[in-house]
Amino acid sequence: MSKEQPNLFFDTDSKNEKNNSEMNETIAYTPFLPSIKSHEAFLDINSYDELKKIANKCENCGLRKGCKQVVFGDGNNKSDIMFIGEGPGQDEDNQGIPFVGPAGQLLDRILNAAEINREAVYITNVVKCRPPSNRLPNPEEVKVCRGYLEAQIRIINPKIIVCLGSKATQVVINSKARITKMRGQWILRNGIKIIATFHPAALLRNEEYKRPTWEDFKKIRDEYKSLG
Ligand code: SF4
Repeated sequence: MSKEQPNLFFDTDSKNEKNNSEMNETIAYTPFLPSIKSHEAFLDINSYDELKKIANKCENCGLRKGCKQVVFGDGNNKSDIMFIGEGPGQDEDNQGIPFVGPAGQLLDRILNAAEINREAVYITNVVKCRPPSNRLPNPEEVKVCRGYLEAQIRIINPKIIVCLGSKATQVVINSKARITKMRGQWILRNGIKIIATFHPAALLRNEEYKRPTWEDFKKIRDEYKSLG
């Protein structure tokens, strides 16, 4: 054996060790959202501000061309509770803040009635750019954008996630989930409690949804308060 060989082996081993530990890190991460792959989840980003900076420059799908700005999220990015809607509307696009239009104002009133301070919670959407004419984001747009949501959940690490409406419910809970069947039930995943309820915009269109939504929010309030 030549003198060079031990060094050669040492280098190879340390490189293998590094590769193995990188692989283990990748393998060790279990994505929170169904169907998402680890490589979509911005695993090299651990800072909320850094992730927001990247999202604000994003042009990965066609929605960015039709909107004024990326609406990343709002509120306390260390909150124990995260609300997830479907996508920004016109008011949100204008102001760069989610849930500020009529549906957002209704959400504020519901939160107020549930004695949950809006400033204490974190609010975001499944897609960060406004879909034209306030349509729902399509599956391709959701697929391209959901890595940001995955990373927001990983970095903020809430104890409770509230899905507002069918699109958020399908992206977070199950692609086949129906809001009318799923709402009001707690699901535990990776130590996080998830619940679905109607989107406030649906309440503005349909008065009948108000009572069941309030029933759901009483559960959310009790669970949130139990966190202390
Ligand atoms: S919707 Fe999401 S993926 Fe599409 S451009 Fe905006 S931030 Fe990027």
